[in-house]
Amino acid sequence: MNKVWLQKAAYTRILEETIRKMPCETGGILMGYWGNTGEAVVTAIIGPGPKAVHKRTSFVPDYEYDKKAISRHYEQSGFTETYLGDWHTHPYAAAYLSEQDKKTLKKIADFEPARLVKPLMMILGTQPFNLGAWAHTYTKRRCMRKPSIVPCSIELY
Ligand SMILES: [Zn+2]
Repeated sequence: MNKVWLQKAAYTRILEETIRKMPCETGGILMGYWGNTGEAVVTAIIGPGPKAVHKRTSFVPDYEYDKKAISRHYEQSGFTETYLGDWHTHPYAAAYLSEQDKKTLKKIADFEPARLVKPLMMILGTQPFNLGAWAHTYTKRRCMRKPSIVPCSIELY
């Protein structure tokens, strides 16, 4: 199973932001790096931007804000911490990948300019309370690239 290390301060920010926007969804960007052992390390979170749209069962990011914040963080980290994927909340629902979430994750994986090998999606559900994460990968079989989504375990550090 893939492992995701989540910085405690970043986790706290997710919790605070979740409560602030209840009963609407919120979300943002996961920043960090992939370690040598194939484990993702989330060092910080970004967002949501001021123009993000928060509704009870949907969240639309402020893409412009996110894009700028990603480059700023990348620079400030000495070009070591980059865009790993997205996070969002499911108020009064479980942490699971909805059909829309699966589509979004696939879109991130297929987004050429970012070239993410293994994009992540982290979801905080408040009922039952749980934080989940999934990684999107492509497995090569003969000449076909087969998309697959695998769950990750999360550990705070
Ligand atoms: Zn969702």
